[in-house]
Amino acid sequence: QAKAQGRNMAVAFAGDMSAEEEERRMLSQDLRHAVRHGQLQLHYQGIFLLPGQRLSGFEALVRWPHPKRGMIPPDRFIALAEESRLILELGRWVLDEACRQARAWQLPERGLTMAVNVSALQFEQSDFVAGVRACLEQHGLPGHSLVLELTESMVHRDPRLAKQTLRELQALGVKVAMDDFGTGYSSLSMLKSLPFGLLKIDREFLQDLSAASEQFAASQQFIEVMVRLAHNLQMRVVAEGVETAEQYDLLCGMGCDEAQGYWLARPLPPAEAAALLPAGAPDSPWPTQSPSSQQ
Ligand code: C2E
Ligand code: MG
Ligand code: MG
Ligand code: MG
Repeated sequence: QAKAQGRNMAVAFAGDMSAEEEERRMLSQDLRHAVRHGQLQLHYQGIFLLPGQRLSGFEALVRWPHPKRGMIPPDRFIALAEESRLILELGRWVLDEACRQARAWQLPERGLTMAVNVSALQFEQSDFVAGVRACLEQHGLPGHSLVLELTESMVHRDPRLAKQTLRELQALGVKVAMDDFGTGYSSLSMLKSLPFGLLKIDREFLQDLSAASEQFAASQQFIEVMVRLAHNLQMRVVAEGVETAEQYDLLCGMGCDEAQGYWLARPLPPAEAAALLPAGAPDSPWPTQSPSSQQ
């Protein structure tokens, strides 16, 4: 009896697995088609200086409007693209499109930056830096108007290669941000030894940043420590996932440099994101380089 039941369950399980695999295979095929036929889009989320809410730049976030399934969020297809290595092609398109938009919006002339997420596989390619340099040249952008966002995991895969690549990017003037800080296999020594210019605190840490939360004091302390650590290492700090005025005010008080979140601006299609740009032509014809640390 029990044996038979076990067997049935095993069969049902195997059935589910292949359905799931089939689903992934189809999604993967659709994604390849979407990348090759220019069907992906970028949305742009404003990032703001604290205090005062002056725009500091944008983060480009990829979107996939699937013809049958509607908008598929990146959390559902980036990993898939990494598995099939399609991420290399996808990533090149994202970088190129974000740089094209940065040029069209005259971001360097306005002293604003464009941030682009980079996946581990992309970052590990031996021609990655050459590709970034070529892209900047092609769009006539100075390195300092580009921010590349990396996550902790990729640095772990090969710290020596990471260090070398980060130095080459630094030589181009490109800024590098540690994204989602505090959620991965963070190692503090890694922060110390690698030249990151920006630290992005994961939005998980902001969830309890509210006087109504029981975890309020702890949450505040965590963020304070991260801000101090970053500043001691000459890095700027960006808080992700700011959803309330209270969080915004608290972050200002803690000396956080920049903020990003729904309360300030949602990720928006280009035409709407452009409304965040200061009105009129840029003041100076020359790119103004902001100091890497204000403190
Ligand atoms: P991320 O780089 O940490 O991007 C921030 C994510 O937080 C975005 O999700 C954004 O929409 C969301 N977000 C921003 N403000 C708030 C807020 O106030 N509350 C909440 N709940 N969420 C907020 P999104 O666009 O779904 O992207 C998810 C992740 O997918 C990104 O996380 C990034 O890791 C990855 N991703 C997005 N675009 C690309 C890309 O072009 N290439 C690569 N490799 N990864 C990408
Ligand atoms: Mg990011
Ligand atoms: Mg992030
Ligand atoms: Mg994230």
